[in-house]
Amino acid sequence: MSEKPVISVIAPVFNEEGNIDELYRRVAAVMDSTGDSWELIMINDGSRDRSADEMHAVHERDPRVRVVNFARNFGHSSAVTAGMDHARGDAVVIIDADLQDPPEVILDLLAKWREGYHVVYAVRAERLGETWFKKTTAKMFYRLIYRITDVHIPVDTGDFRLMDRQVVNAVNTMREHNRFIRGMTSWVGFRQTGVEYVRQERKIGKTKYTFKKMMRFAMDAITGFSYFPLQVTIYASLLLALLAILAIPVVAILRLSGSELQFEGQATTLVVVLLVSSFQLFFFFIMGQYVARIYDEVRQRPLYIVAEIWEEKPETGAAGSGAVSGAEGALGSGAAR
Ligand code: UDP
Ligand code: MG
Repeated sequence: MSEKPVISVIAPVFNEEGNIDELYRRVAAVMDSTGDSWELIMINDGSRDRSADEMHAVHERDPRVRVVNFARNFGHSSAVTAGMDHARGDAVVIIDADLQDPPEVILDLLAKWREGYHVVYAVRAERLGETWFKKTTAKMFYRLIYRITDVHIPVDTGDFRLMDRQVVNAVNTMREHNRFIRGMTSWVGFRQTGVEYVRQERKIGKTKYTFKKMMRFAMDAITGFSYFPLQVTIYASLLLALLAILAIPVVAILRLSGSELQFEGQATTLVVVLLVSSFQLFFFFIMGQYVARIYDEVRQRPLYIVAEIWEEKPETGAAGSGAVSGAEGALGSGAAR
């Protein structure tokens, strides 16, 4: 019965109780209408509410639903990574579990895929029910990333996208930590295109992206794809050097000419020291951001730990195959698959 699915839909889930049923119903309706075989992989990213029970119930009802349970919360990008590791489809769609990305848009993504595109990303033409703050910071973020990174990550796209198997395989070989998925899928190349959609408001539950998480996310994106913050130091140092070159003769002339105006006293020194050390500390921070990420890479920890997998048992007939849970995915980062 388990013929190879053509399309895998991946949904990361962190405390999404109340959304699971509708997500399943709408994805199933859309996917059934295509006539292709499909699977829905939900990654339970350490939910602490009733999400796991709801996912278990859906899986029991429909074996095309597979659930990968993490041992704790590893974050959205690790959840998506696990989904890509476990997906078996010829094409893989990443979608948010909170229904802000309408499953119906998958049809548009599929249409472009059939035209021969390898990555079809969904562009947010409009964002409903989000705060002015989130919309403005997001807009600035996408444009900043576009300017300072070497890969051209299309503006106003989230992770809602379709990827061809070739792209999934390529991205799966990239085992870097602090993953900026939409950057990684752009980086690999292939034929890419976008379709517009209206991002819906979240009806149930609230956003998991606090301000702190958004900042971290932005730093991951920048450090992962740009050296600009490291290189910008040269401008700051040139600026300070220029100020010094200007200041030295000015101070000397004022002193020699016996002018009223003199740079003297502790206050001047204090101001200069504070200013320059704040510059230096700022660049320490920037370097720290890169160094911490190097440390993450050096430790080579797995990207996620799987506690249990709920999926249809393979019909091999081999005695004692037992539950599929755990074993296979336990070393999430493992060798690239
Ligand atoms: N999510 C996750 N792990 C996390 C945070 C979020 O799996 O640590 C999932 C969440 O359940 C949702 C998707 O990622 O399906 C997007 O999260 P959210 O809606 O909170 O982000 P927003 O849409 O506000 O940017
Ligand atoms: Mg959301």
